Amino acid sequence: MTAEDVSADATDVDPGTVYLVGSGPGDPDLLTVRARRLLEESDVVLHDKLPGPKIIEMLPEDRREDVGKRAGGERTPQSEINERLVELAGEGKSVVRLKGGDSFVFGRGGEEAEYLAAHEVPFEVVPGVTSAIAAPAVAGVPVTHRDHASSVSFVTGHEDPTKAESAVDWAALAKTGGTIVVLMGVGRLPDYTKALREAGMDPETPVALVERGTWPGQRVATGTLETIVDARDERDISPPAVTVIGDVAGSRELVVDFLRNDYGPAAEGA
Ligand code: SAH
Repeated sequence: MTAEDVSADATDVDPGTVYLVGSGPGDPDLLTVRARRLLEESDVVLHDKLPGPKIIEMLPEDRREDVGKRAGGERTPQSEINERLVELAGEGKSVVRLKGGDSFVFGRGGEEAEYLAAHEVPFEVVPGVTSAIAAPAVAGVPVTHRDHASSVSFVTGHEDPTKAESAVDWAALAKTGGTIVVLMGVGRLPDYTKALREAGMDPETPVALVERGTWPGQRVATGTLETIVDARDERDISPPAVTVIGDVAGSRELVVDFLRNDYGPAAEGA
């Protein structure tokens, strides 16, 4: 084999495209048309648990790889997922990287895009319906409302708000007067509700927790900045759930009796 043959071999396969696809909040009917088409047509789908049981069960066993948790329970490092994307594309495959909601909202899609570009792998971004808006919406909570909120902030609740280096400025958020939507915020709910109260936010401010929005068995718990932790504990609300803080969470009461969907009983206590 000549040197020429070797290099011809190495470049024979055109790299496949990687599709960074947002799956929406979980109901397969809320996949975009493009997402659904790519799930049907791609060679392989890399996913974790967040797309939800209904969408995951749609994926053919032989074309999907679960890159969420590894055996033993710990998270697959992002670097491994990045490398796998490049490897599969290098084999000429069309690869869907499926993320819950939208890949670019707390979904590490930006990191994956940068890695793919750095490795000269062509990719496409397919936006999804983010749970940050959709989970409140299906529970009857509009994230903006002319009477209640002219701005909305999407923040991570993953960090310890008492740490000086916390990347989320809760005191500043308390002063904006807009809606605050917290993702990854079930565990630290006591910490950031306290931080917001201490920064002067009214303890009576309505708060809603929407668990597994649009999944079968969606649940909602409501309260105020002062009572929501008890509501969480009484109902045993667990991730994935979004926290909506602001008067919009209270406006839900005006519509909830007429709110219809198939996800789970809309009423509190359900
Ligand atoms: N990229 C995703 C967010 C990923 S961060 C998106 O755009 O929706 C993970 C967090 O998203 C969870 O901790 C939870 O706060 C939220 N989340 C994702 N899916 C959800 C759902 N169906 N219902 C409620 N919260 C959800």
